[in-house]
Amino acid sequence: MDKVNILGVNVDTVTISEAADTIMSFFNEDRLHSVYTPNSEIIMHAYKNPAFAELLNSADLLTADGIGVVYASKILKKPIKERAAGYDIARQVLSKMNDTDHKLFLFGGKPGVAEEAKVKLLQEYSNLNIVGLRNGYFKVEEEAEIVEEINNSGADIVFVCLGAPKQEEWIDKHSKELNVRVAMGIGGSLDVFAGRVERAPEIFCKTGMEWFYRLCKEPWRIGRMMELPKFAAAVITKGKRYKQNGE
Ligand code: UDP
Repeated sequence: MDKVNILGVNVDTVTISEAADTIMSFFNEDRLHSVYTPNSEIIMHAYKNPAFAELLNSADLLTADGIGVVYASKILKKPIKERAAGYDIARQVLSKMNDTDHKLFLFGGKPGVAEEAKVKLLQEYSNLNIVGLRNGYFKVEEEAEIVEEINNSGADIVFVCLGAPKQEEWIDKHSKELNVRVAMGIGGSLDVFAGRVERAPEIFCKTGMEWFYRLCKEPWRIGRMMELPKFAAAVITKGKRYKQNGE
C-alpha cells in the first residue's frame, strides 16, 4: 500500500472504502492486525515521542483521520485521496460484516455506552454478530481479565474505543495475547453509534471544518487543538527533511 511519511508517521494513502476492503482481507489471515486512524494531534504526539511513532508505524493499516493530515499529505506532494476517519471506516466494515459470520466485540466508552451502541447497531445491521461488550474504564490489574473476556467471546474483530493514544497503547501492549484478527482503535465512535454524541453535519465534514464544529460543541478541546498550528508549521518546515531522506 502507498504511504506518505508525515513527520515520521507512515500514513496509508487509502480511501474509506479501500481501508474497509483491506480490513475485510485481514479476516483471512490468522494473526492480529492493528488499525489506527491518527489525526494531526496524534501525529504531533508521535513526533514528540519516537516510541509512539514506532508503535503507529507497526500498524497493519494507518489512515488519516482529520483534514489536517490530508492537507499535510498534499504539502508533501503525496496526496491522501480523502479523509479516512475511523468512524466512517468502521461503518463500512459493519455493513460488510453484516453479510458474514464474523464476530464483533465493542470495548470502550462510559458504562452503558457499548450496550446502547449494540442496540442501535442491531437496528441498522440486523445480522451483525456482536459477541461481547466492555466499558473502557478499568484498572491496570483488570486488563488481563478484559483480554480474556475478548478472547473467550470468540470475536474476530474488536473496536477499542478508549481515545488516543490510550487505545493504540492498549492494543500494542496486549497484541501478543489478543486472539482476534483485527483490533481497531476508533476513539469516540461508540458514543456516536450509541447516539450519545452527534457527528458533525456533512457540510462541516465536506468543507474540512469538522474540527470547528467539534470545538463549538466541546470547547474543552481547545487545548488539544492548539497543536494544529504547530503541526502545520512542523510539516512545512520539517516535512521536506523526511521526504528528502526517504525516511
Ligand atoms: N474513554 C474510555 N476510557 C478512558 C478514557 C476515555 O473508554 O479511560 C472513552 C470515552 O468515554 C470516549 C472515548 O474514549 O468514548 C474518547 O473519545 P474522544 O472523542 O475524546 O476520542 P478521540 O476520537 O478524539 O480520540
